[in-house]
Amino acid sequence: MEALLGPRGRLSQVLPGWEHRPEQLALAREVERAFGERRVLVAEAGTGTGKTLAYLVPAALSGRKVVISTATKTLQDQLFHKDLPLVQHGLGLDVRATLVKGRANYLCLHRLERIEREPALLGPGAEEAWAQLHAWAGRTETGDRAELELPDDFAGWPRLSTTRETCLGARCPLHEACFVTRLRARADASDIIVVNHALFFADLALRTSRGSGEGVLPRYDAVIFDEAHALEDAATEYFGTAVSSFRFEDLARDAQVALEPADARAGMLAALALKVRGQAESLFSSAPRALGLLSESAIRLTPALLEPLGRQVDGVLEGLSALGAFAAGAEEPEVQALGRRSSELCAELDFVRRADSQDHVYWAEGRGRGVALRAAPISVAEALREKLYKSVDTLVFTSATLRAGNSFGYFCRRLGLLDEAGEPVHPLTQLAVPSSFDYPRQAALYLPTHLPEPNQPGFVQSVAAEVLSLTEVTGGRAFVLFTSLRNMDAVHALLQHRLPWPVLKQGEAPKHALLEAFRATPSVLFATSSFWEGVDVPGDALSLVVMDKLPFASPGHPLTAARIEQLAAQGEEPFSAYQLPEAALALRQGFGRLIRSRADRGIVALLDVRVSRRAYGRQLVQSLPPARRFRSLDALGEWFSAGAAVAAVPAE
Ligand code: SF4
Repeated sequence: MEALLGPRGRLSQVLPGWEHRPEQLALAREVERAFGERRVLVAEAGTGTGKTLAYLVPAALSGRKVVISTATKTLQDQLFHKDLPLVQHGLGLDVRATLVKGRANYLCLHRLERIEREPALLGPGAEEAWAQLHAWAGRTETGDRAELELPDDFAGWPRLSTTRETCLGARCPLHEACFVTRLRARADASDIIVVNHALFFADLALRTSRGSGEGVLPRYDAVIFDEAHALEDAATEYFGTAVSSFRFEDLARDAQVALEPADARAGMLAALALKVRGQAESLFSSAPRALGLLSESAIRLTPALLEPLGRQVDGVLEGLSALGAFAAGAEEPEVQALGRRSSELCAELDFVRRADSQDHVYWAEGRGRGVALRAAPISVAEALREKLYKSVDTLVFTSATLRAGNSFGYFCRRLGLLDEAGEPVHPLTQLAVPSSFDYPRQAALYLPTHLPEPNQPGFVQSVAAEVLSLTEVTGGRAFVLFTSLRNMDAVHALLQHRLPWPVLKQGEAPKHALLEAFRATPSVLFATSSFWEGVDVPGDALSLVVMDKLPFASPGHPLTAARIEQLAAQGEEPFSAYQLPEAALALRQGFGRLIRSRADRGIVALLDVRVSRRAYGRQLVQSLPPARRFRSLDALGEWFSAGAAVAAVPAE
């Protein structure tokens, strides 16, 4: 490690401007030890420590097949296209690596053939995109849609790609030539496979419930999770189930083209699928009223609450069974795939309607014009122990925020790394390496005390007034982050015509487009949880992060409520065992948006006065990086304009 990452190591010779970071070397040595001794390492590495290279280098040297999983496709691309080449070519480590995304990112050659015969299947208005797609399909080596400048929401793409459910697998006539088959072969021959958490857990859920073979990932020896704070959410989603009307629409659409029109059975198959779709439409359109579900909200499901929908659910289940029975007698792989999908959908809908597993929480969710019936494990600890820790002996969990109140206990318990008695289930090392940023010089933390509490009248107006004053200090360049859509909309409505900078709001455009606009022109961006983490805006474009409230998860959400109940039933105090540590991690993530490089400088404003008035609030603030603290806006303005470094000074 020293020879590669040390002060006079190879990296210092190949990377212009590189600075030795002892924190990076310390982390790299622990990752190396985890590989050598087959341990679990849980490592918090503050922003700016260079943690990517600190795990990539020992992974490359380990001689084992390593999966590296990160939170998003963007981070995955960055790791594969920027950091890995540095290890391979800069440091000269001979390591084969493959980037693997979810199946739906790759062109399906079988579906392409069908669309070539009938381009109208792509849907109306897709002529221009089809011309572009067709030319690309003839030359692409990977089939990855990221090579194309397709709009994110191009409605025709699902007709050209597959999911696990719709792929014909080994029975596909184009299986050998298929991009996904070739990708899997490349991954199998690689030392390092770069994935994202969604793909990792989708694959893990599949590999264990159906045996390996249907997933995209080959067998692996070790896993490194970057952005590991996001793992519990990803695992919860993929170990759970979501049944929505969209799945029935897709099923019916595929059933209508599964057989050639001249085939005598085509009409029967289409009729069966249309019947199920109609039954599902009726179920999902009456669900909101029957369940008392409002749009963009969630309601907990119980067998009693689902009772009024019983007859409609039965109708859908019968329809799916009839479709499954019809498909079972067919030889065509397309029709057989429809049969498998029908059976799976049937089992999932039946699981949700029974709503009787004590380990799961069930809820209905209103999303835009649709409704989803969902189930998820209340805790993923046991599932991870069974499905992952028993078969993989080397695991690294890293992120800039894993500790709550200076302890890894919360993270380790939630992910099942500690048992009920608090003992590690596998040899475990915990490591915290500090950030290499100079927070007292680079960051100010503004904690006003004169505002009403969040549940008091006038809170929204006070937040708006503070945002106005704070953005004057920084010249816009601000993220204003909210814990609820309601507050975001209310403050946005008050300020959108009063702020002298472009005002952006989450939901008005795709996230990447908002970020591009934000980076291009000094702006003020209003957003909620999706911008609290995983967003990287280094430099002057972001100089101010305002958070309206402490980010406590809403106990109104069925999943949060079920976790609280489960902890209480186990004799724990849910506020200190769950809500507080969860908020501490989220707060540190929000803070982490501000300082992304050693040259950055800026302000974090926390407008929730409970941070000063409540003991837990003071505890939460203590867990933040050591920024200089201000209570007065004038003093804050002077600090920001002075620009020069000031060493750590106690709170004013
Ligand atoms: S194997 Fe699946 S993804 Fe590949 S071409 Fe066939 S249907 Fe498409």
